Amino acid sequence: MKTELQQLKNTLQNALHQSAVTDDPDILERYAMDETSDLKGNPWLVVYAKSTQDVSIVLSLCNEYRIPVIPRGAGTGVTGGAVPVAGGVVLSLEKMNTILEIDTENMIAVCQPGVITGQLQKEALRHGLMYPPDPASLDSCSLGGNVAEGAGGPRAVKYGTTKDYITGLEFVLADGSIIQHGGKFIKNATGYNLTGVLIGSEGTLAVITKIYCKLIPAPAYTLDMLIPFQSLHDATHFVYTLLLHRIQPAVLEFMEEDALTLAASYIGQEMPHPQARAHLLIQLDGDSYQEIDASLNKILSLSAVDPESILVAQSPQQKERLWKARRCIREAIQAKSPVFLAEDCSVPRSNIVSFLTGVKEALTPYRLQSIMFGHAGDGNVHIDVLKNDMPYDEFKALVPSLKEIIYRQAYIQGGTITGEHGTGFIRKEALKQFASLPELSLYKRLKKAFDPNGILNPHKIIDLD
Ligand SMILES: Cc1cc2nc3c(=O)[nH]c(=O)nc-3n(C[C@H](O)[C@H](O)[C@H](O)COP(=O)(O)OP(=O)(O)OC[C@H]3O[C@@H](n4cnc5c(N)ncnc54)[C@H](O)[C@@H]3O)c2cc1C
Repeated sequence: MKTELQQLKNTLQNALHQSAVTDDPDILERYAMDETSDLKGNPWLVVYAKSTQDVSIVLSLCNEYRIPVIPRGAGTGVTGGAVPVAGGVVLSLEKMNTILEIDTENMIAVCQPGVITGQLQKEALRHGLMYPPDPASLDSCSLGGNVAEGAGGPRAVKYGTTKDYITGLEFVLADGSIIQHGGKFIKNATGYNLTGVLIGSEGTLAVITKIYCKLIPAPAYTLDMLIPFQSLHDATHFVYTLLLHRIQPAVLEFMEEDALTLAASYIGQEMPHPQARAHLLIQLDGDSYQEIDASLNKILSLSAVDPESILVAQSPQQKERLWKARRCIREAIQAKSPVFLAEDCSVPRSNIVSFLTGVKEALTPYRLQSIMFGHAGDGNVHIDVLKNDMPYDEFKALVPSLKEIIYRQAYIQGGTITGEHGTGFIRKEALKQFASLPELSLYKRLKKAFDPNGILNPHKIIDLD
């Protein structure tokens, strides 16, 4: 293997550029992790692609040598998708980071995969347009990673997720062949929906090299508010009340008491309503103040909560304060307990409370701290279980049972394992356990059809053997 790797390195350096390929141990170390808690695997080489052609060369050579390739965007994934768990070549797309075009007439952005999501949003806004998918990591994650993960975010309740905004992709197969599917047009009934197949494929089927993103007119105004509730049931029931009364917030996030307490203490803020058991963070958007005002008044009249206790952000600073607590929950957890289990099951939103109650009950005997928050509008619930001061080996030994409890509850409630973070490495076993045999068999045949030698991101989503 060592000789083959050396040969591959030399060939790649000749074909691309000397500095495009490295086995410098310090750099390999930097690409050994993503944001998944407690997961690491050193790559053998890191290769930086600057063009589709580069990607094609890397893949066809690695395919020839049967050397695994792990595509990598910005490395913010939380299920180990970009971690070379058993070595291989990390193919970094971070230098392919150009917004190639903002076509205002067709309302389409054409982007390289390494573009940071927040940058596209800012650039679109300069043209009065909006790219709605908004993972909380938007200032650091890449579009390629978003497409590969099928990323979602708080605005999914009104605007949908990444999958709803991709009209076409250019991608490279394991043998180096380049395919362009879809483009700047919205409707497409030609052949199979290959773009749809690649969304959420986590680098296991092909490497995405160009992305066509649908844009929409940006709403002129937004208004954010935080509403405290006596119980999680009251908070989630209010979501239903709002939607029933034709109020369509852009964001509907819930935070259980523990989540907000932890976040507030992490950023050194006072809890506005320490006695509340749950909060809803709501964002309204629209084209006029009147429109938003009308929705706000409706919300005030529908809610049984004392209107005085509803915090409505009156300035950008107040808005930032409201959002800071929501956005930093993961960081706050990490600071308290660097080792933790992070799950993001998806259930019908009417079952959020029964799901969380079921999980809590089942977790009680373990006496571990759990933090629950998420997207009340779409039923995607984040459950983090913290190791805190439990000995590492003891916690690790418990992890499979904890996962089993959480996933089983999700299925009991008519839901599934993950709503936005993907299967990656850490949920592969769960997929095997919960998917049916015909479904698993189809996944394998799909993988084989795209990547017959299994070089693309092996050990992620599904194993071929
Ligand atoms: C603080 C924090 C908040 C987060 N919030 C959210 C959230 O709200 N919603 C959400 O969905 N996720 C969230 N995430 C998870 C993560 O940011 C997303 O999964 C994101 O889409 C990953 O993008 P990335 O560029 O970092 O991808 P990476 O981590 O580099 O890679 C992720 C996967 O995509 C594959 N991949 C990357 N680029 C390509 C490509 N060009 N072609 C083929 N495969 C590729 C990799 O092989 C890997 O399997 C959060 C993460 C953190 C740390």
